[in-house]
Amino acid sequence: MNSLSSVKIIDGKAAAARVLREVRIEVEQLMRVGIQPGLAVVLVGCDPASQVYVRNKVLRAEETGIRSIEHKLPADTGEAALLELIERLNADPAVNGILVQLPLPRHIDEHRVLQAIDPLKDVDGFHAENVGGLSQGREVLTPCTPAGCMRLLQDSCGELAGKHAVVIGRSNIVGKPMAALLLKAHCTVTVVHSRSSNLRELCRQADILVAAVGKPRLVDASWLKPGAVVIDVGINRIEEDGKSRLVGDVDFDSALSQVSAITPVPGGVGPMTIAYLMQNTVTAARLQRPALLSHSTFAEASCPSIS
Ligand code: NAD
Repeated sequence: MNSLSSVKIIDGKAAAARVLREVRIEVEQLMRVGIQPGLAVVLVGCDPASQVYVRNKVLRAEETGIRSIEHKLPADTGEAALLELIERLNADPAVNGILVQLPLPRHIDEHRVLQAIDPLKDVDGFHAENVGGLSQGREVLTPCTPAGCMRLLQDSCGELAGKHAVVIGRSNIVGKPMAALLLKAHCTVTVVHSRSSNLRELCRQADILVAAVGKPRLVDASWLKPGAVVIDVGINRIEEDGKSRLVGDVDFDSALSQVSAITPVPGGVGPMTIAYLMQNTVTAARLQRPALLSHSTFAEASCPSIS
């Protein structure tokens, strides 16, 4: 049992504000050599949640001095037309990052579209070349949510090497890249998922627990090792006491009795995702001009090699 006053609530809003300040400084440096990083955001259709995400991305870009270019296409846009737009954005030197807002309408092959993006402009880090590079431990554009989680972990735990990290969830967007980044930071990594047995027992071994499931309050105190650090990626909307509210995959109030540090929902991982999209846009601008690369360009834990 913890003394609740000793639990660190990891403030993702403050951490994201720090990342965005760093990005702004990098943008100013690039502008001194005549480069204003540009981010193209492509939205197909009018899904309300996607529209909100796109609006927030464009706002954050403007705040950091990144030029944002919005492409809003009707829901019945064909795959060929979308691929043609991506080809044009790939060839446009003013565009350093390309983000295609997911999900795409069902008639469009998401994989084909993501593969069409130039890997050097793939600020979501979803292209197979970047996915493969990450699993090889190379410095590549990394998915924004896991990159943001790593920054929160580094800020709150310091040295990660040797810690046992358990990731719940194996999606391409969060779980798998999260596991690869933790491995790159020399953690011992266990990935558990919907078909895992002994889920709770495995989670109880975690020094670091990352929950990316999409099940409201799945994880409570009985899943946690005393002193664990918990990163809650889940965003679940529930109705409670007649109100609609957002909760994570972790039962926050219950977890407080066990953890040493935990991210809240909202206000934890969420703000970091957009901040790292901006960081990736600046990194992409540098990658496209290798002379501008420095050893501190990459967002994730800097580790010399994996052995
Ligand atoms: P997903 O549905 O693609 O993957 C969920 C994973 O959880 C799967 O791998 C599945 O095997 C596993 N799973 C499902 N039920 C389980 C169970 N009962 N026990 C153990 N594992 C189980 O989801 P995703 O895209 O990885 O997103 C996960 C959550 O994170 C969602 O709530 C999503 O909204 C949220 N999310 C948040 C951010 C952010 O910026 N904070 C970004 C991306 C996703």
